[in-house]
Amino acid sequence: MENKAFLEIKNLKKYFEVSKSFLKKNRMYLTAVDDVSFEIKKGETFGLVGESGCGKSTLGRTIVRLYEPTAGQVIFDGDDITKLSQHEMLKYRKRLQMIFQDPYASLNARMTVSEIIGEGIDTHNLGKGKERQEKIQHLLQTVGLKSEHSSRYPHEFSGGQRQRIGIARSLAVEPDLIVCDEPISALDVSIQAQVVNMLEDLQETMGLTYLFIAHDLSMVKHISDRIGVMYLGKIMEICDSNELYRKPLHPYTQALLSSIPVPDPRKNRESKRIILQGDVKSPINPPEGCRFNSRCRYCEQICKEVTPQLLEVEKDHFVACHLVDKIN
Ligand code: SF4
Repeated sequence: MENKAFLEIKNLKKYFEVSKSFLKKNRMYLTAVDDVSFEIKKGETFGLVGESGCGKSTLGRTIVRLYEPTAGQVIFDGDDITKLSQHEMLKYRKRLQMIFQDPYASLNARMTVSEIIGEGIDTHNLGKGKERQEKIQHLLQTVGLKSEHSSRYPHEFSGGQRQRIGIARSLAVEPDLIVCDEPISALDVSIQAQVVNMLEDLQETMGLTYLFIAHDLSMVKHISDRIGVMYLGKIMEICDSNELYRKPLHPYTQALLSSIPVPDPRKNRESKRIILQGDVKSPINPPEGCRFNSRCRYCEQICKEVTPQLLEVEKDHFVACHLVDKIN
């Protein structure tokens, strides 16, 4: 893994207007991603975790410019791609790919597997005729499918096989970075490990970099080098994957980790589960100060007034919490 940043996200915001009004002050916005900054190194897997609705998928889609950012910057391999036109984005679309959560919805039901995988090869002029066919066959083999699968349609496959087709489609354009948006959440537990192992093998052989999005910390532990924890549009904690499991510092991360069942029943009984009180607030009207204040058992007055910044509290360990020293 190289040390310099391959993808830099700087103060990225993505707001959706939910009520239109002539007067700007009367307009309402859903603040899906709010002032998010982090970076991913080349060859790294960065896990992004948070409950549903926290903005993690929107963040992934904004990074690859499926959504236009409201503010901030996306810098990919040294180039600011935030404001590029669709035409200018074409060469980056090849290098920046996405794998979606629902493989069935993301595959065109009327296209054969060969057509689905070949589409990117054609768009980016990566091979014609025999060379194109050989590429498709090679990709099928790479993701563990057979050559006879190429003439079949998505409905003829299982969920795990469909996700493999989605991965082959992403690989067809020879990308450098893949945003994996909950790629295993919809799969059976027995298949999840197979897909994760395959993604790891592909990373090693093809030198890929991943942003791996999941709603559950147990899913990202195995694959991630570093992990970012997101809550209501903001990053709460970032650090090395092992360190996060060993010593989580943010109250939200601590609660998420405490809810993961431990295989040993004795240890499971002994480990104290932190039950979060209160509801997740709406991103349309997020709380003042710390976004987590309505559910945090340590909340003090400052938490309701001032937004905590994401600060490096230990080496390479970043936390957004006013009371991080007091509670740890
Ligand atoms: Fe809890 Fe306050 Fe820290 Fe937010 S800033 S996580 S409310 S202690």
